[in-house]
Amino acid sequence: RDPMLDPEAPDDIPDDRALRPQTLEEFVGQAEARSNLRVFVQSARMRGEAMDHVLFHGPPGLGKTTLAQIMARELGVGFRMTSGPVLAKAGDLAAILTNLEARDVLFIDEIHRLSPVVEEVLYPAMEDFALDLVIGEGPAARTVRIDLQPFTLVGATTRLGLLTTPLRDRFGIPTRLVFYTEEELDQIVTRGARLLGAAATPEGAREIARRARGTPRIAGRLLRRVIDFALVEGDGRVTRELADSALTRLGVDGLGLDGADRRYLSLIAENYGGGPVGIETIAAALSESRDALEEVIEPFLLQQGLIARTPRGRMLGHKGWRHLGLEAPRREGDLF
Ligand code: ADP
Repeated sequence: RDPMLDPEAPDDIPDDRALRPQTLEEFVGQAEARSNLRVFVQSARMRGEAMDHVLFHGPPGLGKTTLAQIMARELGVGFRMTSGPVLAKAGDLAAILTNLEARDVLFIDEIHRLSPVVEEVLYPAMEDFALDLVIGEGPAARTVRIDLQPFTLVGATTRLGLLTTPLRDRFGIPTRLVFYTEEELDQIVTRGARLLGAAATPEGAREIARRARGTPRIAGRLLRRVIDFALVEGDGRVTRELADSALTRLGVDGLGLDGADRRYLSLIAENYGGGPVGIETIAAALSESRDALEEVIEPFLLQQGLIARTPRGRMLGHKGWRHLGLEAPRREGDLF
């Protein structure tokens, strides 16, 4: 998959930091999550206590990390960041927890990938702000409880279903992030162009927004590449025509789908008559991991109604057939 179009690829470009909104006010979209968080942040400030633990779930690139940073800033507390796969041993997490200052925000990305021993450390920490240390071995072993500073855990996951129930239950504020509308992405692209010092016409910004796969991270990347084309091959202005030709050359089609998305759709259409076909079969045929399909490729295709998930497997929807320029075969008991 093209790293530029991969909503999971890290934001290693320094410019990305310039594009990150710094306040809840500046953050576009996710209206419901934002208005709830505003209340909880304010209440925590008024009470002078750590805010309750928050779990962000949703596809990559929608702003989970950004919102966690904004929360810390609006709470006026420190921000520490780590991720599930990085915390290999219980001691790794214990070291971070004992270094937190009162009411700090600790952000754990990919929290569904915590190992069970590390997760055990997290339970008393989240519930009682305490760490249970085991001292000694065998029959002489005993547990010593160490108090921690009260803190706010912000967990982020692309796969809510992979979280264990005890962990999930310990988050007081579960928050789902959804794909952005074209209108919201338009605002994000327009703001981004201004911050990057590029001249974009309203139609140019709209074209990028329309093809950003509902995802701010992709909108930012596409904007940067279109600006490159505008500077080198145009007069520097991001117009609709220029955006259209640049995005087409980058392999981004009218709906914002890239090569990996189209390969997925074509496979179901051409090799399985539109499905149903099991996810493992699709993963094997595309040489992709099942996780990558479920976390990155499928959510947008489902949201767009290009595919459907049924108990017997994935099926291409009418819109999916039309997008491929193919005729859907007629059959009994059509689902949609
Ligand atoms: P996630 O943690 O969900 O993968 P991030 O918070 O890292 O996503 O956001 C990805 C990129 O998208 C960041 O560079 C950020 O600047 C941008 N971004 C995310 N949400 C917004 C938003 N609401 N407005 C503007 N830019 C955003």
